[in-house]
Amino acid sequence: MTPGEPAPGVRPGEHGGEPPIADARRGGAPPAGPAPAAANEGPTSSGAGDASRPAGRAEDEGPAVASGDEPAQGGTGTGSPPGSTGAAVGGRRMPGRRAAGVALVALGAALAAVVALTTPWRPLPGPAPGPPDPARDFTAAQIARAGAFDAALSMPGYLSLAVTLAIAGVLVLTPLGGRILGRIHGPWWLRTLLGVLAVTGTGLLLKWPLGMWYETRLREYGLSTQGWPAWSGDRLKSFAVQTALMAIMVLAVVWLARHRPARWWIPAAAGAFVLTVAVSFVYPLLVEPLFNDFRTLPPGPLRDDLIAMATRDGVPVSDVLVADASRRTTALNAYVSGFGATRRIVVYDTLLRAPAKEVELVVAHELGHAERGDVLYGTLVGALGAAAGACALFLVTTWRPLRRRTGVDSPGDPRAAGLLVGLMTVATIASGPAQNLVSRPIEARADVHALDLTGDPATFAAMQRRLALTNLSDLEPDPFEYVMYASHPSTPERLALARAWARAHGRPGP
Ligand SMILES: [Zn+2]
Repeated sequence: MTPGEPAPGVRPGEHGGEPPIADARRGGAPPAGPAPAAANEGPTSSGAGDASRPAGRAEDEGPAVASGDEPAQGGTGTGSPPGSTGAAVGGRRMPGRRAAGVALVALGAALAAVVALTTPWRPLPGPAPGPPDPARDFTAAQIARAGAFDAALSMPGYLSLAVTLAIAGVLVLTPLGGRILGRIHGPWWLRTLLGVLAVTGTGLLLKWPLGMWYETRLREYGLSTQGWPAWSGDRLKSFAVQTALMAIMVLAVVWLARHRPARWWIPAAAGAFVLTVAVSFVYPLLVEPLFNDFRTLPPGPLRDDLIAMATRDGVPVSDVLVADASRRTTALNAYVSGFGATRRIVVYDTLLRAPAKEVELVVAHELGHAERGDVLYGTLVGALGAAAGACALFLVTTWRPLRRRTGVDSPGDPRAAGLLVGLMTVATIASGPAQNLVSRPIEARADVHALDLTGDPATFAAMQRRLALTNLSDLEPDPFEYVMYASHPSTPERLALARAWARAHGRPGP
């Protein structure tokens, strides 16, 4: 696995493992949250300036939680003697911070508890699988080729990540973003919208050559089947989807911050939760068709086998869809996306060239996701994270040192668009390792499900080897890549799991 070239969120040509639940889990809204309101914040009232504030206690305590409504200009605080209630009385302290902090801690604790209690940390009962050993299943030449491919993608991948972080860093830590966006004129919503577009468009342009470099490598290794026009079309569509989502979130934050300067984090957290769930639900209907055509698996023995297997498994599946992935890649993949009425099992058309038994194994893995409701679960956990992110965004954007650095005093100011995009980008990247940490055991559980359902570790292993060799999967991911990007266990780990399963069930190991 390699760093981020395939556009995050929507990743048409991904070369790694399956995007299954990963897509749904990540397709949702990055932590969104707004920040305090417009230009004149400050609860207070009495107009005491910064100077009046006792040194050392600054940003973090808001006005009393209970009263934490809008700053109420001139209102409430006016009469209270300093220190009498513990509420902020001086200066530019932003009201609502304490309540937002409490909400953030509560949401974070709930998230941690849910994840700790529901993640299948040990997907296979009994003795732990042996250590992963690529040399057991792959020749030295195969391991070397996978390593070379990984190394070839590293440079454009890491550079792309570096550009993303550099842009975000400039927006979050310097006044440059606010200054440039300050030159845009018009109504607040138009300025905000153009601000988002300016920032995301800059990223698109700066990373375009890196994307071409990455794509060139894919072609050298025979993984891409695309020409430049199709590649460019994919990239622009991906950009449009991500920018539209980002614009919705940023517009919502700016609007809320203008209307509820001290409490916008409450509707923002609720909105982030709802948006994440909604995006995950409609993703298969609105986004996936932008990149692929889907047809139903044609009648025949394979279709009959798959439907029969799903029925045996107790997972009602009326259809299996085939995506025309071969228009851009030779990689093999399958995934589940959506939930409820939009749930679907999709296999790449490239996978159908594999032996039917191996296709069944792949679908059995996806049935494991479907049976456990992994997409819905991942969506809800992600939504909780997004709500927490909204609270964090409020706290960060009302933090005085940051306001000073960026020269943007409130997210209600359209010049804050760049800062908001930067913060959301950083939060999305930073949450990746946590998502992967939870995703890997969930993937392993789906593997165990596939083994239980088929009772066929030998075919499971054959399928894993085929996936790894065709997709040039990283057989020896280094620790950094593993933590940052591995949404699935490595192929040697999955093979070790299959052997442990075979031992536990008294079957011949692969
Ligand atoms: Zn999976």
